[in-house]
Amino acid sequence: MKRVAKMVAAAMAVSAMGVATGAYAQEYPGSKPVTAVVPFAAGGPTDKVSRELTMIMSKHLGATIVIENLGGAGGTIGAKKVVQAKNDGHTVLIHHIGMSTAPALYRNLGFDPLKDFEMVGEIADVPMVLVGNKSLPPNTFKELLPYIKANASKLSLANAGIGSASHLCGLLFQSAIQTELTTVPYKGTAPALTDILGGQVNLMCDQTTNIAGQLKAGALKPYAAMQSRRVEAFKDIPTAAEQGLPGVEVKIWHAMYAPKGTPKPVIDKLSAALQKSVADPAFRAKMAELGAEAVPAQRATPDSLRTFLGAEINKWTPVIKKAGVYAD
Ligand code: ASP
Repeated sequence: MKRVAKMVAAAMAVSAMGVATGAYAQEYPGSKPVTAVVPFAAGGPTDKVSRELTMIMSKHLGATIVIENLGGAGGTIGAKKVVQAKNDGHTVLIHHIGMSTAPALYRNLGFDPLKDFEMVGEIADVPMVLVGNKSLPPNTFKELLPYIKANASKLSLANAGIGSASHLCGLLFQSAIQTELTTVPYKGTAPALTDILGGQVNLMCDQTTNIAGQLKAGALKPYAAMQSRRVEAFKDIPTAAEQGLPGVEVKIWHAMYAPKGTPKPVIDKLSAALQKSVADPAFRAKMAELGAEAVPAQRATPDSLRTFLGAEINKWTPVIKKAGVYAD
Protein backbone atom coordinates (compact mmCIF):
# COMPACT_ATOMS: atom_id res chain seq x y z
CA MET A 1 0.00 0.00 0.00
CA LYS A 2 2.76 2.30 1.10
CA ARG A 3 4.62 1.62 -2.15
CA VAL A 4 1.55 2.44 -4.24
CA ALA A 5 1.02 5.69 -2.33
CA LYS A 6 4.64 6.66 -2.94
CA MET A 7 4.30 5.91 -6.66
CA VAL A 8 1.12 8.00 -6.89
CA ALA A 9 2.81 10.89 -5.04
CA ALA A 10 5.81 10.69 -7.38
CA ALA A 11 3.55 10.66 -10.44
CA MET A 12 1.66 13.67 -9.11
CA ALA A 13 4.91 15.53 -8.47
CA VAL A 14 6.11 14.85 -12.01
CA SER A 15 2.84 16.04 -13.52
CA ALA A 16 2.84 19.15 -11.29
CA MET A 17 6.37 19.89 -12.50
CA GLY A 18 5.19 19.51 -16.07
CA VAL A 19 2.32 21.95 -15.48
CA ALA A 20 4.66 24.39 -13.73
CA THR A 21 7.18 24.17 -16.60
CA GLY A 22 4.43 24.53 -19.20
CA ALA A 23 2.87 27.54 -17.50
CA TYR A 24 6.27 29.05 -16.85
CA ALA A 25 7.31 28.64 -20.47
CA GLN A 26 4.07 30.16 -21.64
CA GLU A 27 4.65 33.26 -19.53
CA TYR A 28 8.38 33.47 -20.27
CA PRO A 29 10.09 35.94 -20.49
CA GLY A 30 7.58 37.86 -18.32
CA SER A 31 8.70 41.17 -16.90
CA LYS A 32 12.05 40.04 -15.49
CA PRO A 33 15.12 41.00 -17.55
CA VAL A 34 17.46 38.41 -19.08
CA THR A 35 21.15 38.66 -18.15
CA ALA A 36 23.59 37.87 -20.96
CA VAL A 37 26.98 37.02 -19.47
CA VAL A 38 29.80 38.13 -21.77
CA PRO A 39 33.01 36.44 -20.59
CA PHE A 40 35.32 39.28 -21.72
CA ALA A 41 35.88 42.95 -20.94
CA ALA A 42 33.39 45.66 -21.89
CA GLY A 43 34.12 47.49 -25.14
CA GLY A 44 35.89 44.51 -26.75
CA PRO A 45 34.84 42.40 -29.74
CA THR A 46 32.66 39.83 -27.95
CA ASP A 47 31.06 42.66 -26.01
CA LYS A 48 30.41 44.69 -29.18
CA VAL A 49 28.72 41.78 -30.98
CA SER A 50 26.72 41.04 -27.82
CA ARG A 51 25.54 44.63 -27.38
CA GLU A 52 24.49 44.96 -31.03
CA LEU A 53 22.68 41.62 -30.82
CA THR A 54 20.91 42.13 -27.49
CA MET A 55 19.66 45.57 -28.49
CA ILE A 56 17.77 43.92 -31.37
CA MET A 57 17.01 40.62 -29.63
CA SER A 58 15.34 42.40 -26.66
CA LYS A 59 12.73 43.58 -29.12
CA HIS A 60 12.18 40.12 -30.66
CA LEU A 61 12.13 38.36 -27.27
CA GLY A 62 9.94 40.94 -25.58
CA ALA A 63 12.29 41.39 -22.61
CA THR A 64 15.15 43.64 -21.63
CA ILE A 65 18.50 41.87 -22.03
CA VAL A 66 21.25 43.28 -19.83
CA ILE A 67 24.91 42.49 -20.35
CA GLU A 68 27.18 41.40 -17.52
CA ASN A 69 30.88 41.43 -18.43
CA LEU A 70 32.84 38.81 -16.54
CA GLY A 71 36.29 38.56 -18.12
CA GLY A 72 39.32 36.48 -17.21
CA ALA A 73 40.95 33.11 -17.96
CA GLY A 74 40.10 33.22 -21.65
CA GLY A 75 36.35 33.34 -21.08
CA THR A 76 36.16 30.31 -18.77
CA ILE A 77 35.21 32.31 -15.64
CA GLY A 78 32.10 33.77 -17.26
CA ALA A 79 31.16 30.42 -18.79
CA LYS A 80 31.39 28.72 -15.37
CA LYS A 81 29.10 31.34 -13.88
CA VAL A 82 26.43 30.44 -16.43
CA VAL A 83 26.83 26.70 -15.74
CA GLN A 84 25.94 27.46 -12.11
CA ALA A 85 23.17 29.99 -12.86
CA LYS A 86 19.46 29.29 -12.41
CA ASN A 87 18.15 27.50 -15.51
CA ASP A 88 15.03 29.62 -15.91
CA GLY A 89 15.92 31.41 -19.16
CA HIS A 90 16.93 34.59 -17.36
CA THR A 91 20.66 33.93 -17.72
CA VAL A 92 22.42 33.19 -21.00
CA LEU A 93 26.03 33.14 -22.14
CA ILE A 94 27.38 34.82 -25.27
CA HIS A 95 30.77 33.30 -26.01
CA HIS A 96 33.05 32.62 -28.97
CA ILE A 97 35.36 29.94 -30.38
CA GLY A 98 36.84 29.62 -26.86
CA MET A 99 34.00 27.22 -25.99
CA SER A 100 35.62 24.71 -28.33
CA THR A 101 39.27 25.25 -27.36
CA ALA A 102 38.90 25.37 -23.55
CA PRO A 103 38.35 21.59 -23.13
CA ALA A 104 41.82 20.91 -24.61
CA LEU A 105 43.56 23.88 -22.98
CA TYR A 106 42.21 23.32 -19.45
CA ARG A 107 42.72 19.88 -17.91
CA ASN A 108 40.52 20.94 -14.98
CA LEU A 109 37.99 23.02 -16.84
CA GLY A 110 35.16 22.09 -14.48
CA PHE A 111 32.48 21.98 -17.18
CA ASP A 112 31.74 20.25 -20.44
CA PRO A 113 30.64 22.70 -23.16
CA LEU A 114 28.47 20.07 -24.85
CA LYS A 115 26.92 18.53 -21.72
CA ASP A 116 26.58 21.42 -19.27
CA PHE A 117 24.74 23.90 -21.50
CA GLU A 118 21.61 24.09 -23.56
CA MET A 119 22.41 25.39 -27.03
CA VAL A 120 20.49 28.44 -28.28
CA GLY A 121 22.25 29.16 -31.58
CA GLU A 122 25.12 30.80 -33.44
CA ILE A 123 25.31 34.56 -33.91
CA ALA A 124 28.12 35.75 -36.20
CA ASP A 125 31.46 34.88 -37.79
CA VAL A 126 34.31 37.33 -37.29
CA PRO A 127 37.72 37.46 -38.99
CA MET A 128 41.00 38.13 -37.20
CA VAL A 129 43.84 40.43 -38.20
CA LEU A 130 47.38 40.53 -36.83
CA VAL A 131 48.07 44.14 -35.89
CA GLY A 132 50.93 46.07 -34.34
CA ASN A 133 51.66 49.39 -32.73
CA LYS A 134 52.21 52.22 -35.25
CA SER A 135 55.82 52.76 -34.20
CA LEU A 136 56.94 49.19 -34.97
CA PRO A 137 59.51 49.47 -37.79
CA PRO A 138 58.15 46.75 -40.14
CA ASN A 139 55.47 47.99 -42.53
CA THR A 140 54.49 44.65 -44.03
CA PHE A 141 54.11 41.07 -42.85
CA LYS A 142 57.13 40.13 -45.02
CA GLU A 143 59.22 42.65 -43.11
CA LEU A 144 57.67 41.67 -39.79
CA LEU A 145 58.78 38.03 -39.86
CA PRO A 146 62.58 38.63 -39.93
CA TYR A 147 62.11 41.54 -37.51
CA ILE A 148 60.39 39.18 -35.04
CA LYS A 149 63.16 36.59 -35.41
CA ALA A 150 65.81 39.21 -34.67
CA ASN A 151 63.95 40.86 -31.78
CA ALA A 152 61.91 38.02 -30.25
CA SER A 153 63.15 38.61 -26.70
CA LYS A 154 62.01 42.25 -26.82
CA LEU A 155 58.62 41.79 -28.46
CA SER A 156 55.32 41.15 -26.73
CA LEU A 157 52.06 39.69 -27.98
CA ALA A 158 48.83 40.61 -26.18
CA ASN A 159 45.92 38.24 -25.68
CA ALA A 160 42.73 37.83 -23.66
CA GLY A 161 44.05 34.91 -21.59
CA ILE A 162 44.54 31.24 -22.32
CA GLY A 163 41.56 29.95 -24.22
CA SER A 164 40.79 33.28 -25.85
CA ALA A 165 40.64 33.75 -29.60
CA SER A 166 43.66 36.04 -29.53
CA HIS A 167 45.57 33.37 -27.61
CA LEU A 168 44.68 30.67 -30.13
CA CYS A 169 45.62 32.88 -33.08
CA GLY A 170 48.89 33.89 -31.39
CA LEU A 171 49.64 30.26 -30.63
CA LEU A 172 49.23 29.22 -34.26
CA PHE A 173 51.27 32.20 -35.43
CA GLN A 174 54.19 31.55 -33.04
CA SER A 175 54.19 27.86 -33.90
CA ALA A 176 54.17 28.64 -37.66
CA ILE A 177 57.14 31.01 -37.38
CA GLN A 178 58.81 28.79 -34.73
CA THR A 179 59.48 31.75 -32.49
CA GLU A 180 58.16 32.42 -29.02
CA LEU A 181 57.19 35.90 -27.95
CA THR A 182 56.38 37.20 -24.49
CA THR A 183 52.62 36.94 -24.19
CA VAL A 184 50.66 39.41 -22.06
CA PRO A 185 47.16 38.33 -20.92
CA TYR A 186 44.26 40.76 -20.41
CA LYS A 187 40.61 40.32 -19.42
CA GLY A 188 39.64 40.97 -23.00
CA THR A 189 41.15 42.63 -26.05
CA ALA A 190 39.54 46.00 -25.27
CA PRO A 191 42.14 46.75 -22.55
CA ALA A 192 44.80 45.02 -24.68
CA LEU A 193 44.02 47.36 -27.58
CA THR A 194 44.50 50.40 -25.33
CA ASP A 195 48.00 49.12 -24.52
CA ILE A 196 48.79 48.31 -28.16
CA LEU A 197 47.83 51.87 -29.12
CA GLY A 198 49.88 53.20 -26.21
CA GLY A 199 52.89 51.08 -27.16
CA GLN A 200 53.03 49.11 -23.88
CA VAL A 201 52.65 45.90 -25.91
CA ASN A 202 53.67 45.39 -29.53
CA LEU A 203 51.46 42.92 -31.36
CA MET A 204 48.04 41.32 -31.16
CA CYS A 205 45.75 39.09 -33.17
CA ASP A 206 42.25 40.46 -32.80
CA GLN A 207 38.75 40.35 -34.22
CA THR A 208 37.86 43.10 -36.68
CA THR A 209 34.85 43.86 -34.46
CA ASN A 210 37.32 45.41 -32.00
CA ILE A 211 39.77 47.09 -34.33
CA ALA A 212 37.68 48.20 -37.33
CA GLY A 213 37.69 51.86 -36.22
CA GLN A 214 41.45 51.93 -35.62
CA LEU A 215 42.13 50.13 -38.91
CA LYS A 216 40.02 52.68 -40.82
CA ALA A 217 41.75 55.55 -38.99
CA GLY A 218 45.21 54.09 -39.70
CA ALA A 219 45.96 53.97 -35.96
CA LEU A 220 47.40 50.44 -36.12
CA LYS A 221 49.72 48.59 -38.48
CA PRO A 222 47.70 45.75 -40.04
CA TYR A 223 50.08 42.91 -40.91
CA ALA A 224 47.88 40.04 -42.08
CA ALA A 225 44.35 38.72 -42.25
CA MET A 226 44.43 35.40 -40.43
CA GLN A 227 42.08 33.52 -42.74
CA SER A 228 42.14 31.93 -46.17
CA ARG A 229 40.60 34.89 -48.02
CA ARG A 230 40.81 38.64 -47.59
CA VAL A 231 38.32 40.28 -45.23
CA GLU A 232 35.47 41.81 -47.22
CA ALA A 233 35.54 45.11 -45.31
CA PHE A 234 39.36 45.34 -45.37
CA LYS A 235 40.29 44.10 -48.83
CA ASP A 236 43.62 45.92 -48.75
CA ILE A 237 44.99 43.71 -45.95
CA PRO A 238 46.65 40.63 -47.49
CA THR A 239 46.24 37.23 -45.84
CA ALA A 240 49.12 35.53 -44.02
CA ALA A 241 49.06 32.77 -46.66
CA GLU A 242 49.41 35.29 -49.50
CA GLN A 243 52.48 36.61 -47.72
CA GLY A 244 54.16 33.26 -47.39
CA LEU A 245 52.73 31.82 -44.17
CA PRO A 246 49.99 29.32 -44.98
CA GLY A 247 47.89 27.51 -42.38
CA VAL A 248 47.43 30.25 -39.79
CA GLU A 249 43.68 30.51 -40.08
CA VAL A 250 41.27 31.21 -37.24
CA LYS A 251 37.69 32.16 -37.89
CA ILE A 252 35.93 33.39 -34.76
CA TRP A 253 32.32 32.44 -34.22
CA HIS A 254 29.98 33.67 -31.54
CA ALA A 255 27.07 31.72 -30.08
CA MET A 256 24.49 31.81 -27.30
CA TYR A 257 24.00 29.18 -24.59
CA ALA A 258 21.77 28.70 -21.53
CA PRO A 259 22.35 26.69 -18.35
CA LYS A 260 21.63 22.95 -18.60
CA GLY A 261 18.02 22.12 -17.91
CA THR A 262 16.56 25.41 -19.12
CA PRO A 263 13.09 24.23 -20.27
CA LYS A 264 12.88 23.43 -23.98
CA PRO A 265 9.95 25.81 -24.64
CA VAL A 266 12.07 28.61 -23.14
CA ILE A 267 15.06 27.65 -25.32
CA ASP A 268 12.71 27.63 -28.31
CA LYS A 269 11.59 31.19 -27.50
CA LEU A 270 15.20 32.35 -27.07
CA SER A 271 16.25 30.67 -30.31
CA ALA A 272 13.28 32.07 -32.26
CA ALA A 273 14.20 35.57 -31.07
CA LEU A 274 17.85 34.91 -31.98
CA GLN A 275 16.89 33.73 -35.46
CA LYS A 276 14.86 36.91 -36.03
CA SER A 277 17.75 39.01 -34.75
CA VAL A 278 20.45 37.52 -37.01
CA ALA A 279 18.13 38.00 -39.98
CA ASP A 280 17.37 41.59 -38.96
CA PRO A 281 18.86 43.94 -41.61
CA ALA A 282 20.03 46.36 -38.89
CA PHE A 283 22.10 43.64 -37.18
CA ARG A 284 23.46 42.28 -40.47
CA ALA A 285 24.51 45.78 -41.58
CA LYS A 286 26.21 46.52 -38.25
CA MET A 287 28.18 43.26 -38.40
CA ALA A 288 29.26 43.96 -41.99
CA GLU A 289 30.44 47.42 -40.99
CA LEU A 290 32.67 45.79 -38.37
CA GLY A 291 34.08 43.29 -40.88
CA ALA A 292 31.92 40.44 -39.51
CA GLU A 293 29.06 38.38 -40.90
CA ALA A 294 25.80 37.57 -39.13
CA VAL A 295 25.00 33.85 -39.55
CA PRO A 296 22.01 32.78 -41.64
CA ALA A 297 18.94 32.09 -39.44
CA GLN A 298 19.26 28.30 -39.89
CA ARG A 299 22.57 28.41 -38.00
CA ALA A 300 20.98 30.28 -35.09
CA THR A 301 19.37 27.06 -33.84
CA PRO A 302 20.19 24.60 -31.02
CA ASP A 303 20.76 21.63 -33.36
CA SER A 304 23.04 23.53 -35.68
CA LEU A 305 25.10 24.90 -32.78
CA ARG A 306 25.41 21.46 -31.12
CA THR A 307 26.75 19.92 -34.33
CA PHE A 308 29.05 22.86 -35.02
CA LEU A 309 30.43 23.03 -31.46
CA GLY A 310 31.16 19.29 -31.54
CA ALA A 311 32.96 19.67 -34.87
CA GLU A 312 34.99 22.63 -33.60
CA ILE A 313 36.04 20.71 -30.45
CA ASN A 314 37.16 17.83 -32.69
CA LYS A 315 39.01 20.25 -34.96
CA TRP A 316 40.91 22.20 -32.29
CA THR A 317 41.68 19.47 -29.70
CA PRO A 318 44.41 17.75 -31.76
CA VAL A 319 45.91 21.11 -32.84
CA ILE A 320 46.20 22.25 -29.20
CA LYS A 321 47.41 18.84 -27.97
CA LYS A 322 50.12 18.93 -30.65
CA ALA A 323 51.19 22.40 -29.54
CA GLY A 324 51.43 21.00 -25.97
CA VAL A 325 49.96 24.07 -24.32
CA TYR A 326 47.93 23.92 -21.12
CA ALA A 327 46.43 26.66 -19.03
CA ASP A 328 46.43 24.67 -15.79
N1 ASP B 1 39.07 39.23 -28.59
C1 ASP B 1 39.06 38.52 -27.35
C2 ASP B 1 39.70 37.20 -27.52
O1 ASP B 1 40.81 37.23 -27.88
C3 ASP B 1 37.80 38.43 -26.65
C4 ASP B 1 37.20 39.75 -26.26
O2 ASP B 1 37.83 40.61 -25.66
O3 ASP B 1 36.03 39.89 -26.55
O4 ASP B 1 39.18 36.17 -27.24
